This record gives sequence, structure tokens and C-alpha cells, in this order.
Amino acid sequence: MYSLLIVIVVGILLLLVGGVILIRHISKKRNDKKTGVLTQKLEVEKLKSDIVLNSFEDGVVVADANNVIQVFNPTASRLTGWPQNEALNLDYRTVIKLVDSKGEVYKNEDNPLDVALKFGKPVRDNAAVLVSRDDNRISVDISASPMLDDNNSTMGVVGILRDVSLERKEEKKRADFISTASHEMRTPVAAIEGYLALAMNDKVSTIDVKAREYLQKAHTATQHLGELFQDLLTSAKAEDGRLINHPVVVEMGKLLEQITEDLRFVAQKKGLGLEHIIGSEPSSEGNPKHLKVVQPLYYVRTDPNRIREVLTNLFDNAVKYTPAGMVSLGITGDKNVVQLFVKDTGSGIPADDISHLFQKFYRVDSTATRTIGGTGLGLFICRKIVELYNGRIWVESELGKGSTFYINLPRLSTQMAQSMEQAITDAAQSPTALAPKPNNPV
Ligand code: ADP
Repeated sequence: MYSLLIVIVVGILLLLVGGVILIRHISKKRNDKKTGVLTQKLEVEKLKSDIVLNSFEDGVVVADANNVIQVFNPTASRLTGWPQNEALNLDYRTVIKLVDSKGEVYKNEDNPLDVALKFGKPVRDNAAVLVSRDDNRISVDISASPMLDDNNSTMGVVGILRDVSLERKEEKKRADFISTASHEMRTPVAAIEGYLALAMNDKVSTIDVKAREYLQKAHTATQHLGELFQDLLTSAKAEDGRLINHPVVVEMGKLLEQITEDLRFVAQKKGLGLEHIIGSEPSSEGNPKHLKVVQPLYYVRTDPNRIREVLTNLFDNAVKYTPAGMVSLGITGDKNVVQLFVKDTGSGIPADDISHLFQKFYRVDSTATRTIGGTGLGLFICRKIVELYNGRIWVESELGKGSTFYINLPRLSTQMAQSMEQAITDAAQSPTALAPKPNNPV
């Protein structure tokens, strides 16, 4: 009886063990099948992304937070001269070597990949030159975008390198022609202007009233021609990256205040009011409708002289096209953007013209513009300068009521601004400091 019981228990145990083994076997098979499907899926996805990356006409480089290259596509390999298998796992700074148009080596704080990685902000540089492994120089347009995790910490950076050598050569030829022509023509124009001024000077010439009137007109036209050549020269420089550019950390609120004070006299001369607005909420197309003031300090990395040029240009236009009323210069911003605006209560701009306004030589065809002199290059130059600092410029206007020109520039947090300033000071004090690199927009 006892032995029968043992046989039954052993039998049950054997059945149980057998069952467990069978279940494990089945579930392992299922898991294997699942893992297999997953692996297959992953392989398909990898194949897909490899196909995309390999057929990309732009160089793609992905580096992790330790600057180590994790992805390097064939175009990146062709541009840099580094075979993919050698570039992978190297520090990207060994592989992506950049100089500016004058051949000066990029400092770390100017390297777009470095800036995107350090500050978690997308950066574009359209004036860089890539030095390949065998010392070839290739003009490139680089965009660097940080990869952020859920906590907004930077996990790495994606760099896209586009070979723009041909475009730059063509641009250079065009710009060289315009520069030479306008430079050569400025000299005789200045001479004509000088002689006309002498002819109108009572102390050296005697002329009748009619002649004075004609000479005055000729003098005005010559001045206009001189301005045109100057604008042509500036626009050619803005196009081929020769515009003098020394970006530093600038507190825009203070700069705008100084500019407004400097321009007050010009507005007063025409009998226009001038106001300086801080932290208001102007409407803005394509952006949060109301930008709130988060911090009173509006830091931007830019060349203050270039921004002064832009604001002065917008202000001059506002005065030119406002017969009576008010011109306002203002600043506002949110966490990411500093917004400057120049507002007037003048003639306004027809809706059809707005999208063409920032093109070269575009002038609105109206009685106002026909009687008011201009070259149609001012807003084009403004756009080129603003884009140099990864900014955006646009206008909102209502015919007969006035116009507001907006400029958005990437904002630096106070902490970022301080660490950038510190990095610049440290670099300047370092005995191995390189000379400042003037032509590198960030
Ligand atoms: P311009 O030398 O003709 O002023 P810009 O490039 O500075 O050249 O401006 C292009 C055109 O845009 C001007 O001719 C004018 O028609 C229009 N414009 C610019 N600013 C204003 C403004 N504040 N109000 C009305 N029209 C403007």
C-alpha cells in the first residue's frame, strides 16, 4: 500500500516536472520567437536608417555627451577624408576641424557642435571651412542640434555638414564684381559731390538762383548715388561673409537704450515723437502671441555694431515713411527669444509687398517711395545681418496706419551669458590664446 503511494507520488512529481519542462520549453520557444521578431524588426529599422543616412547628400555626424562619434555617414567620410570605421569612437574634434574664411582655427566656444552640446541649443554656421584629413579646405554650412533627454539634459549632438563650395565660389565672383565696381565708382562720385558743393559755396563761386537750384538737385542725386554704392558694397560683404563681425555677449536692453538716445535728435528734427518700450507685449506672427518678460536682462551673442546698424536702418525707414506721429523702439522676450521692434505710425506697407520687402532692391511702388529716396538694399542688409546671428526679421503693417518691424534673436540665459563671457576671458588670458576669429556667426 505504502509502495503504491510512493509510485503514485513519484508519478505525479514526474508529471509535474515534465509539465514544467514542457511549459518552459513552449514559453522559451515563444520568447525565442518574440526575440527573433524583435531582432528582425530592429534589423529592418537599422537597415532603413542606414539606407537613409548612406544616401544623404549631407554629412551626418552624431556624437555622444562625451564628444565621441557614434554615427558617421559616407558623405561625412568623403568630406572629412576619415574612413567611417576609423572615425567612429573618436572625439569629433579630431575629425571635424574647422577654420574661418581667413584660415583661423575655430576655438571651442565658436564650434557649432561644441556650442550645441554645451548649451543645448541648435546652432547654425554658414561661413565655416572644413579642413579634411589630407588638408583640403571645403566650404561648409553646418547645423548642429542637441539631442535632449526627458529632463532636457544634453545626451549628444547631431551635426549636418553641407558642402557649399560651389555656391560660395559663385557668390564670391558676384560679390567681387559688385565690390570692385562700387568701390571704383565711389571715388568719382565723391569727387563730383565735392565739386558740386564747391560750386554752391558762396565764398568760392558766384551762381544765379536758377543754377543753384539745379546744382542742389544734382548734389542730392549724387549723394543718393554715393549711398547706393555704399549699400552695394555692404550687401556684397554681407553675402560673402566679409562683413566685419566680432560677436560678444551683449545685454540688448542697455544697447537699445543707448541707440534710442542717439537717435532722439533725428526724430525730433522731423517733429516725431520717440518712445523707448521695455518688456511690452507686441504681437508676433508665427510665435507665441504674447511674449512675457521672464528676466529683465536680455542677453544675446552678437556684434553690437552690426545690430546697431540694423536698428538704425529700421529707425531711419520709420522716420522716412512717417510724415507725422510717433516712432517706438522696444524690447521684450521669452525664455528663448529676445525680441526687438521698431514701430511707426506712418504710411504702412501694402499687403502684397510685405513678402518681397527683404529682397535685394525691392521698393514699394507708391507716391511716398517715389518722392523719398532710397536704394531698396537697407532691409536686405538688415535680414543678412540678423540671419548671421540665427535670428529672424519680419514686418507687420497696416496701410495708412503704420508698420512694426520685429527682430527675434536667440536669447542666452544669464547663466549661459556669464559662462560664455568667462570662457572668452579665460581664452584671452591663456598664453596659447588664438587671435579672435571675426567671421564666425553663432
Ligand atoms: P529703401 O532704401 O528704399 O528705404 P529698404 O530696403 O530700407 O530700402 O526698404 C524697402 C522698402 O520698404 C522701401 O522702399 C519702402 O517702400 C518700404 N518700407 C521700409 N520701411 C518702411 C516703413 N517703416 N514704413 C513704410 N514702408 C517702409
